Amino acid sequence: MMLQMVRAKRRQVLVDINTQRDFFLADGTVCIRNHRRVLAHVRRLMAWARRRGIPVISTCEVYPDNNGHNGDLRYCIDGTDGQLKIPYTLLASRISFAADGSTDLPRDMLRRYQQVIFHKRCVDPFDEPRIDRVLSEVCAAEFILMGAAAEGAVKAAALGLLQRDKKVSIVIDAVGYHDNREAKMAFRKMEAKGAKLIETRRIAGTSHLRLVGACHCESCQRMLQKVTVGAPDEK
Ligand SMILES: [Zn+2]
Repeated sequence: MMLQMVRAKRRQVLVDINTQRDFFLADGTVCIRNHRRVLAHVRRLMAWARRRGIPVISTCEVYPDNNGHNGDLRYCIDGTDGQLKIPYTLLASRISFAADGSTDLPRDMLRRYQQVIFHKRCVDPFDEPRIDRVLSEVCAAEFILMGAAAEGAVKAAALGLLQRDKKVSIVIDAVGYHDNREAKMAFRKMEAKGAKLIETRRIAGTSHLRLVGACHCESCQRMLQKVTVGAPDEK
């Protein structure tokens, strides 16, 4: 079977959703709220996955650049910086797939690479044939979701996985959102459908490290200074 990649069925898989500059950095075109806190948690989860050899399935939104004729769509345009992933969400052992409608996948993909990155031209990962195939066929004891946005791609990924009888955990403090009320409703819906809502510390332990390191906005830089001079963490 192609995706016995995750050989041991007990294994966890980290599903890393849209951790791209446009969503996560203050100068991104659709930056989530509270990006500093969420980014710090995303960074810790990636470090945890790297250390433990946890397979990472990443999805990125990438839209074609139609010479400025993209209507209202103003984020994650192919070729722009905003479409790039945050540097620490990239593992050394990785492979990327364009969104080309194909469902082809190398047989031993996740045995050869720790991270597989899929581009998608849509919010719901299951609308992209290759991602649909991967998420449907991977056997893992637990799919751990982080990224953005709670009310968009994270919700769509969670509900799709649950529909396929997968066990899903959402790391709520590593999930960004645009609208607080809609995000709350999304979390409630995911939970009602069977997802477990957890926090980063349950997976990656506690840490005083609040470093974000990728964003240059004032808030993130202030935190960087604090950490560097060893001042106590903000609550
Ligand atoms: Zn920032």
